[in-house]
Amino acid sequence: MIQQTDLAFDRDHLWHPYTSMTSPLPVYGVEQANGCQLQLNDGRWLIDGMSSWWAAIHGYNHPLLNKAVYQQTGKMAHVMFGGLTHKPAIELGKRLVNITPPGLDCCFLCDSGSISVEVAMKMAIQYQLGHGRPQKGRFLTVRNGYHGDTFGAMSVCDPVGGMHQHFSTTLAQQFFAPAPRSRFNDSYDPRDTDELAAILTQHADEIAAIIIEPIVQGAGGMRFYHPNYLKALRTLCDEHQVLLIFDEIATGFGRSGKLFAAEHAAISPDIMCVGKALTGGYMTLAATLASRAVAEAVSDSEHGPGVFMHGPTFMANPLACAVACASIDLLADGTWQQQVQAIQADLESGLAPARDIDGVNDVRCLGAIGVIELEKPVNMARIQQRFVDHGVWVRPFGKLVYCMPPFVISRIELQTLTAAMISCVKEECQL
Ligand code: PMP
Repeated sequence: MIQQTDLAFDRDHLWHPYTSMTSPLPVYGVEQANGCQLQLNDGRWLIDGMSSWWAAIHGYNHPLLNKAVYQQTGKMAHVMFGGLTHKPAIELGKRLVNITPPGLDCCFLCDSGSISVEVAMKMAIQYQLGHGRPQKGRFLTVRNGYHGDTFGAMSVCDPVGGMHQHFSTTLAQQFFAPAPRSRFNDSYDPRDTDELAAILTQHADEIAAIIIEPIVQGAGGMRFYHPNYLKALRTLCDEHQVLLIFDEIATGFGRSGKLFAAEHAAISPDIMCVGKALTGGYMTLAATLASRAVAEAVSDSEHGPGVFMHGPTFMANPLACAVACASIDLLADGTWQQQVQAIQADLESGLAPARDIDGVNDVRCLGAIGVIELEKPVNMARIQQRFVDHGVWVRPFGKLVYCMPPFVISRIELQTLTAAMISCVKEECQL
């Protein structure tokens, strides 16, 4: 059991994500997690609205995912991937090549979402090198994006909301176009890509790739935009010898209502990053998939190094690969589609009353994502405690109170979750 002294140690010695060591926000001790609920050290069970940051799509303590880890542990927990291979990696590679958009045939298994973005960016640079275009080494992206916390990834995050100002001396300078304006369910305005097209026309000879989160801009604002925007990007990239990278780390594996958000636009990127729900939230693992054309240019030895220059110690960790295979197999019968559709319908009806609250700017839902956008940032410590008092785990950021529950959440759990969101937002707006 987590004791008060343990929590005191945690406060004094452990860094949590984006927190201060000198005045940390409170953290809640979790003893165990089962299904869609987390148990705190005081015995209370909370309904999980976050899926541990988009990852735990099948819920916690899943018997088949547990079994995959146990069985693989008995064979080997890890071996190096340099010069060696193993069945879990091969099986995962087969599944990923099979289920991702057509043409993504070459798979690099790596440690986390941010690293898969670094890998994608390095692949794009090496692709251009391989074609004898060494000057094409920068990236074009849109505002309000989020791609991770490592240096390459940070350089393509939103230049205002991201960490640019704090690391400006080290961060690579990239090109930013306005965020897509046409919303997912509205009509598409073809002028949406005008500024981006102008940047490409002027700077294509410096640009290796466009990187974007397809359909859902996640941590940069939780916005859902129109699929035609992606189709327009595909055409523009092809015209300018620029690669198209989709960051599907948050959207991959069903979250937006399609297995991959690229499917809303029926196009394939040249490179795609997946992570988070890849292992059903069990372990850290990500993958960067690339087309054969990208892989061949990356492997060119006339203009470039002839090999892809990346190789992490824990590449293709067998435990993580085994649980990823089991998680993908759980998606294979397609039940997730009905689950996500039902979640979307219940999120729409459950969050609709927020539209009438003074101080709420917008309410939007797509797939298993429900967002209430307030006019002002929330008081994090206060609202977090109020959610816990309501028996749910929801972690807002800035003006956004949102949820993305596990796909296996029950109707009654989801109703409790949305009712708590309405109630806490109401309170917050009355302050
Ligand atoms: N890209 C996107 C779209 C993400 O949402 C995230 C994580 N929130 C990342 C990249 C970074 O992934 P990780 O935290 O696993 O490094």
